[in-house]
Amino acid sequence: METIQRINHYTAYRPRPFTREERATVTILFGGLTWKHERLIQGVMHNLGYRAQPLPNITRADLDAGKELIDVGACCPTIFTTGNLVNFLKSEVAALGRDEVVKRYVFLTAGACGPCRFGQYHESYTMALDGLGLRDFRLFLLAQNQLDQGATHGGGLEINLPLSLGLIWAILCADVLTDLEYMTRPYEVVPGETDRVMRESIEYLYDVFRRRPQEKLQGGKLKVFAWHVLTDYFTDALREVRKRWDTIRVDRLQVKPKVKITGEFWLQTHEGDGNYNIKRWLEQEGAEVIPPPIAVWLDYLLHSPITSEEWKGAERNRKKIALIRALEHIYHFVYNRFRRALGNLPYELPDQEELKQLAKPYYHYELRGGEGHMLVGKALYAYRHKKAHMICELSPYSCMPNTMSIGAMANVLGRYPDLLYAPIEIKGDAEVHALSRCQMILTEAKRRAQAEFEDALAKTGLTVEAIRRYEERYPEVQRSTYRIPHYGYAGTAANYVMHLARKMR
Ligand code: SF4
Repeated sequence: METIQRINHYTAYRPRPFTREERATVTILFGGLTWKHERLIQGVMHNLGYRAQPLPNITRADLDAGKELIDVGACCPTIFTTGNLVNFLKSEVAALGRDEVVKRYVFLTAGACGPCRFGQYHESYTMALDGLGLRDFRLFLLAQNQLDQGATHGGGLEINLPLSLGLIWAILCADVLTDLEYMTRPYEVVPGETDRVMRESIEYLYDVFRRRPQEKLQGGKLKVFAWHVLTDYFTDALREVRKRWDTIRVDRLQVKPKVKITGEFWLQTHEGDGNYNIKRWLEQEGAEVIPPPIAVWLDYLLHSPITSEEWKGAERNRKKIALIRALEHIYHFVYNRFRRALGNLPYELPDQEELKQLAKPYYHYELRGGEGHMLVGKALYAYRHKKAHMICELSPYSCMPNTMSIGAMANVLGRYPDLLYAPIEIKGDAEVHALSRCQMILTEAKRRAQAEFEDALAKTGLTVEAIRRYEERYPEVQRSTYRIPHYGYAGTAANYVMHLARKMR
């Protein structure tokens, strides 16, 4: 007799509803950014009445946990972030029991479609949840290109303008502060001051986001949008923060190479074991790091449809393009207001059109995986505008888009052999190899920074002693918030010499 085999067909994961009534008892977990971004995001969520908690910062143990539970070909950020969720849930299950964890938590993550694995992060999470016996744990996706997505299944979470604009504003504020942090810490006179002031500033801003006035978040979409764009609420808070940074004394005569971090979105943003803590490591090795703001990624998302071949020349898209251009202007306007509130110290956003044009001969802008053409564009932007001595590109193990960028960079280097470029492959468990590769290129970057500094002294006729005497008379030039303009050198020390020479005339 023929036996009939039962086939278990694949069914896509669909979370149980997260209801409005559950908001008071269910905690929304999220993660994947820096502790600064996450704390401000938490402020936004608390402001809207959600219980929200970032996952612990990623560690090496998360890599091991992720490797056990998801497919072997996954890219390194997928493994790290999945393992991070897994380890948190495991520890909560041990403390509270499985049913309680399923009841008490949901996880919110960004999602998108597209050619890279980013579009399938949630698949990895569900695979891991299956492995943990937590298939009924609830996981929700926040599409990164839609500000108003309505309520999630059950209405427990509403992805509307007050939430989306709050998240974007929180990210932008954390970005400008992160710039300030990285340009200050390498030069601080009292070790630990920058970190202390940063923690205080973020706590202060957390409270600012937590207390966003409710009456400004009610009413029509246009009203909510206009308030966020035009209000002084956030810029006043940043001015307040700036006063705290005024107290940090820096010594800019320390000659340090500037290293611009580029690479895959998660790896370049992360601060911790997930990228060998490379930003801190570079600082310990005597460098000044230029961190990658998330704002550039958001700008890219906003700008991309305009450059799409599909949209080109189509009459019906005229209005849409005009609207996007207007939104781009507003976006830059907001970012520049935040920069201005911090004394214009944070770096300006690169022009997306320029990034595209710079990358165009090497990497087509329609290739949209990962950071697309931006890796090539940003490297050339930093090189051409003398923003950094060296580019450190963080490339995840098993990442197809990044592999393509590195291939394209070989062509760029053929054309610009002078560009110092360190592509670092990050697997999570090959730290010594990656860092020693970076160190080799850093040695040359240090030499260039020193040569620039000596050139600036020679050009101006200044001596270190004369500058020290000036600093004693005018101590304000040693404040971390004292702005040094760009005089065509990449290094801070060389630009500082040029600036003081003008002041001393
Ligand atoms: S860009 Fe690369 S590392 Fe990032 S999610 Fe896509 S495949 Fe993974």
